[in-house]
Amino acid sequence: MTDRSLTDDECWSIALAKDRRFDGRFLTGVHSTGIYCRPSCPARPPKRENVRFYASCAEAEAAGLKACKRCAPGQQSNEEAAVLAAIDEIRHAEDSAPTLDELAQLTGYSPAHFQRLFKRSTGLSPAAYARALREERARDALSGEGSVTGAIYQAGYGAPSRFYESSKGKLGMAPSAWANGGRGVTIRWAVVATSLGDMLVAATDKGVCRLSFAEGERELARRFPHAELIQGGAGFETLLAEVVASVEQPGDFAHIPLDVKGTAFQEACWKALREIPPGETRTYAQIAAAAGNARAVRAAGSANARNNVAVLIPCHRVIRTGGDLGGYAYGLDIKRELLRREGQ
Ligand SMILES: [Zn+2]
Repeated sequence: MTDRSLTDDECWSIALAKDRRFDGRFLTGVHSTGIYCRPSCPARPPKRENVRFYASCAEAEAAGLKACKRCAPGQQSNEEAAVLAAIDEIRHAEDSAPTLDELAQLTGYSPAHFQRLFKRSTGLSPAAYARALREERARDALSGEGSVTGAIYQAGYGAPSRFYESSKGKLGMAPSAWANGGRGVTIRWAVVATSLGDMLVAATDKGVCRLSFAEGERELARRFPHAELIQGGAGFETLLAEVVASVEQPGDFAHIPLDVKGTAFQEACWKALREIPPGETRTYAQIAAAAGNARAVRAAGSANARNNVAVLIPCHRVIRTGGDLGGYAYGLDIKRELLRREGQ
């Protein structure tokens, strides 16, 4: 039940959003009232200072908390059990992923009903989940020892060419920097003056892991408390120059490698953002649809808000239905200026 890839800050924003896709992945303990809840509990949000996160009911109860009667975190519903069984089946499939019909049969639902159930709880269809899992495994295997082809077969692809096809235009993602607060990872960083203000650029040896405005080493250290932070460096300067150029003269920056990590659905949203041509904009609904779940408009909004690499994952290209600019983490002036430059 534990999910070590989520930081406390992430758990907190998930709990505020009452995002039921994270039910079962952690528990929210409220120490002022002495209860613990699912992330999606409909009760009024507690104060942040009273909240602590737990990996399991046993852990929360060991801390003296009781299960909430409203959201009943100790009880797994039949639907949850069905989704977990399907995930287990997909994860352990030997060569090809189980079909929707097979999963429906396994769990006792009709295929259409099960597809909806699975999507509501994971944000993805079973087929998209299997695909995301395969890509994740391929990335992990590639970063280790062994031949590329071996890694591809290990991850369950029928033939090497399919891997290259499906990784085209992918974010250069490796889970390491964003897992465990960056433990064991070296991050090089700099703050540079740009026409949009001071810009923080940070990168691991895999790619840019943070691009933001009006932030410095302190904010970076908060995001990666266990990483080794080094200012500047020879290899880093080249990447930095490319990043600055892509901010000052918007163009094609798809070649700049990124090191980011989110849920499968967030990553699908970020990929969809990278596919918006410069000079064009999309709505949250369009991003949700492009990421494979047209109804997850709010989740697409929160994926946008959790983007760690501004500009290069162009969340500024998302506006409200009707043309209103919407919000931007670094202020509307920067968003407006980026869109103006790209529109030229
Ligand atoms: Zn509750």
